[in-house]
Amino acid sequence: MHRSVFVAGLIMAGCLTSLAIGQSSHTDPWAPIEIGVLPPIASLTGGEWLKGDLHVHSRHSKESSNNSVATIISFSKSVGMDYLCITDHDNHVLGDVAHNTWTDPEFKSDSVLLLYGAEWTTTRGHGNAFSARPYDHQRLYDVRDQRDVVVGAVKKELGIHLSANHPSGKDHFGYSYDMVDSIEVWNSSYWPKNANAIMIWDDMLSSGRKLTGRGGSDAHHGAPETPDKATKNSFQAKSNYIGTPTTWVFAPARTSQAVVDTLTGGRVSVSANPYAPRVEFYADLDQDGKMDMMMGDNTKSTGKPVKFRVQLTGNTVPTASYTVNVVKDGNKFGTFQAIGKIPMVEFTDTPALLGRTYYRVTVEGPPTAYPQVPESMAMSGNMVGLSNPIYFNFDPNF
Ligand SMILES: [Zn+2]
Ligand SMILES: [Zn+2]
Repeated sequence: MHRSVFVAGLIMAGCLTSLAIGQSSHTDPWAPIEIGVLPPIASLTGGEWLKGDLHVHSRHSKESSNNSVATIISFSKSVGMDYLCITDHDNHVLGDVAHNTWTDPEFKSDSVLLLYGAEWTTTRGHGNAFSARPYDHQRLYDVRDQRDVVVGAVKKELGIHLSANHPSGKDHFGYSYDMVDSIEVWNSSYWPKNANAIMIWDDMLSSGRKLTGRGGSDAHHGAPETPDKATKNSFQAKSNYIGTPTTWVFAPARTSQAVVDTLTGGRVSVSANPYAPRVEFYADLDQDGKMDMMMGDNTKSTGKPVKFRVQLTGNTVPTASYTVNVVKDGNKFGTFQAIGKIPMVEFTDTPALLGRTYYRVTVEGPPTAYPQVPESMAMSGNMVGLSNPIYFNFDPNF
């Protein structure tokens, strides 16, 4: 007997005994199943909101101008930044950021937490590395052209947070998202160019990757101290500089490690500038009127309705109406208007009992003045801020 005829006969026999003709016997081994016990949700009050910028270039990036480390740190302090990561292009110093940015005598602050990092600047695009302490960045630079499985192993050994930068367009992050902890969903004050970054974020979230969305000004140019120091790019300092946008983290402590860990965990909100209101997003799981979780948190769905709350904290305009856009699993869920001194909206929905669900929000409304970067308002338009998602049934072992 010809082998293929024999095999076909066996399959046919199996089909006839177990299934009606036309049905497939295929079972998806990855189909959603009930996930196990998730870690408890951290305290909603045991922490403080810290603000900072996660993408800034100093004079150690060759194309920067009038942007010394001291200039960056003193400006950050003057606008109330709690933390900062100077992310110079590592290729400009052949990977040796440890002996350039980090050993710059100006790399110190008594009030701003300074993260160690760099912009991993490769043929396949850009990513930022963040760490609470010095690490061997040279190894990450050296491995840049290897396969993702090799890069991922080095990243893991270094114990760093890796973030995909400006993920669409020029120099987009061309590596696997399986090895990154966050994604730059808001690059620079010019908000409209981030639409594709948001789309990529939703795709990664929808496919099960619990990936923090963060901001970064990608500022390269400071204001010249005297007119003769001006360069052709000096004008940029007026429209895009430190804090456009500002990334907030709800950190359990005022330490660099807490900032990095919170960035990974996802209790993160992004605002147009340091003075713009902060978007806060909470959920009440048992409808007792008390919020049980916030953005970045992940819990098991009970199949019962959940009440969500979106709140703006900070310099809001009491007479203004803010537009709250809610996204569920990558699709528009609803649009709500928030007014008052502390603008707030609530809505209810029931996350699926089986399988993943996430909700995230963006808020539009009147721009907030940023006098130190006066032209940034026009660049970000009516975009006020965005939240990270609230997650249901995301598998931590994905
Ligand atoms: Zn870049
Ligand atoms: Zn950059």
